[in-house]
Order: sequence, then C-alpha cells, then structure tokens
Amino acid sequence: MGSLPASVITCKAVVCKEVKKLGQSYKDVIEVMDIQVDVPQDTEIRIKMLSAGICHTDISNIRGFMTKPYHFPKVLGHEGVGIVESLGPEAKGFEVGDMVIAPTYGECGECSSCRSGRTNVCQKYGANDPPMEPDGSSRFSFVDKDGKKQFLYYFLACSTWTQYMVVDSNYAVKLNDYDFPPAHGCILSCAFTTGYGAAWLDGRVRPGDTVAVFGTGSVGLSVSEPAHLRY
Ligand SMILES: [Zn+2]
Ligand SMILES: [Zn+2]
Repeated sequence: MGSLPASVITCKAVVCKEVKKLGQSYKDVIEVMDIQVDVPQDTEIRIKMLSAGICHTDISNIRGFMTKPYHFPKVLGHEGVGIVESLGPEAKGFEVGDMVIAPTYGECGECSSCRSGRTNVCQKYGANDPPMEPDGSSRFSFVDKDGKKQFLYYFLACSTWTQYMVVDSNYAVKLNDYDFPPAHGCILSCAFTTGYGAAWLDGRVRPGDTVAVFGTGSVGLSVSEPAHLRY
C-alpha cells in the first residue's frame, strides 16, 4: 500500500492517431501498438485491464465528436474492468488486487455538486478533464520512429483499451463484492450507469410506470424489478 512500483510498464494499447476523415477507414487511424505506462503518482492507481467495452462514444470520438483535433494520438476506451496493480503514495481506499471499474465520471465527495447528490457533475473530477496532465505530460507514452518519447492523450479521464492504465483513484470504483465475469462488468462504467441514472434517478421511473424505450441496444433496465446493482 502506498509504495511506488518499480518501473514503467511496456504493453499493448489501441491508439487512435488522428480524427478519421471522410474517405478514410477506421483501420487508417487506429493502431495496436507498444506504449509505456508510467508509475502511478499522488492519488493515482495503475490497473491491469481484464476487459474493456466498446461504447458508441468511442466510435464517435474517432470521428471527431467530443474531442479537439489536436487531442491525438490518444488511447481510446472508457469502459473497463481491471485489477489494481500498484498505487500512488497518496491513493487511499484501494489495495493491490482489488477488482475495479473506471467510470467516466469521478467524484470528490466535497464540492457542492457531490454534496447535492449530483456527482455526475463533480466540479473537481469531470468527464473530460484532463485529456492530459496539467503540466502537458501523460502517464501514457510511446517511442516514435525517431526514438523520441511522445505523450498520448487520455479519453474521458481514463482510457481502457490498453493492457495497463493509470487513473486517479477518484475515478475508480471497487467491484470486490460482485460475482460476475469481468466482461459483464464493463458496462457499469458507462452504458448501464448512463441509462440507470437517466431512468431511475432523473426520470424517477418506478414499477408500474408506462415508459417508451429509445434504446441503442447496449443495456436494458427492467422497471418491473428494481435493479440489484448499486449506482
Ligand atoms: Zn460510453
Ligand atoms: Zn465533487
């Protein structure tokens, strides 16, 4: 607990090199490549990924949605389940070996949004912030063809399409109490929580209500039986 890991990890990751333009295929802009994943610092944790989901927002982002053209190259993905591999010196509440998800939204528990229960708009740990560390560095990097270290941007504060990732522990949630395959837990990061939050918390849908369903097929929510998963 709290001790810095020994070294940087080199692993495989899915990297989007640039926004896909008309006439280009996805294969033209996406590459599976070797990257370096730095040691976790401060309140960060490094996670060995077990499973990652593909959300339509990933696909849209490749086409330029919710991003700046200069926020590339980046490691994609924002749904995933993994095991805590190491912790930064200030990371609290986690142990090496914990199974976790990295939701797209973090929460500080202290700002006015968090105190009012609207943790999805936490003023400290937002969905898009930061695409890179404030000092212009990143925990993800690669060595370019000239042998120079180049930083990679994040996607939605996490980036899950990689064998290892570093995320602030305020963006991680433990899954240790749950008993299901990691692949089934991926949608808890985005797809399930987005639908659950909209229907159960904002829409206040309750058993017996008549509802219309406008789905993308990623997740279903039964209104005849309350969901058994915590939000
Ligand atoms: Zn998503
Ligand atoms: Zn907050």
